[in-house]
Amino acid sequence: MELTTILNRCYRQKNFVYTKVKFSPNADNEIEIQIVPRKNSKPTCAKCHQHAPGYDRLPERRFEFIPFWGFAIFLIYAKRRLNCKQCGIVAEFIPWADGKNHLTLVYMHYLAHWAKKLCWKDVAISFKTSWEKVFKSVEYMVKWGLENREMNDITAIGVDEVQWHKGHKYLTLVYQINAGSTRLLWLGKERTEKTFLDFFEFFGEKRTALLRFVCSDMWKPYLNIIKGKAPAAINILDRFHIVARLNKALDEVRAEEHRRLINDGYEPVLKKSRWLLLKREENLTENQSVKLSEVLKYNLKSVRAYLLKEEFQQFWDYTSPY
Ligand SMILES: [Zn+2]
Repeated sequence: MELTTILNRCYRQKNFVYTKVKFSPNADNEIEIQIVPRKNSKPTCAKCHQHAPGYDRLPERRFEFIPFWGFAIFLIYAKRRLNCKQCGIVAEFIPWADGKNHLTLVYMHYLAHWAKKLCWKDVAISFKTSWEKVFKSVEYMVKWGLENREMNDITAIGVDEVQWHKGHKYLTLVYQINAGSTRLLWLGKERTEKTFLDFFEFFGEKRTALLRFVCSDMWKPYLNIIKGKAPAAINILDRFHIVARLNKALDEVRAEEHRRLINDGYEPVLKKSRWLLLKREENLTENQSVKLSEVLKYNLKSVRAYLLKEEFQQFWDYTSPY
């Protein structure tokens, strides 16, 4: 069986033919596969995709294909230029590569696919290619994905932020959170009112009007923007953020009271009680449970705060409207 037979099976080109296959004169581990236009086929304009008569040939170029059996594979083709009625003298469209790219589309797809599973450097090493080529492939696929993505029927979104650069900088992230369709929609620099407003500008009024749920934390500017931009949507506060607030309040009460007890000359009963009070009861060790029940015997503000926090847990399972 010949290599061209295999290629025709897995990567057939309608208007082109694989002809000669040879080892590259440049390197031992490279194979070059010549491509020529099919007989009597007219070139297609790369701009308007109309057929037109040929004009001349450009110099041969190498297009990198998926490597196999330890060989780097290159398709060799000399593009035709054509005289297009609409566009003038332009290069022809070739289905296996895009514009000035030296990587075939199928190879970029292949590298980008692996770049989802491995870090880019590992992909480059595994397939004996460069980090730049992996980067280029991912960039190309992301660009293609963004240009072709469908953004209709989004009725639920969530906004959140992440820290980066050792925690000194923020990014604002907006996700679609519809059941069965969760994905990152948008990413903005920093975490400001303007960042979130930029999202709504990008998202557009039409899509925003379809929103039924917006999930966010309790940051006041977020709440105001959601109210202003998507008044018909229900603003859902994230459970994680609410629990964090409760814990923070409890912790402040405990720290303050602990200091006061010491200053007033009382027994420091709240010493080392921080995690006893903050952890959920079912997560405590046996030892901690005993210590906690000791602390809870005292008539303290911290105990009251703790009980309020614990009581709030009911809220998450509560279903009765009354
Ligand atoms: Zn054209």
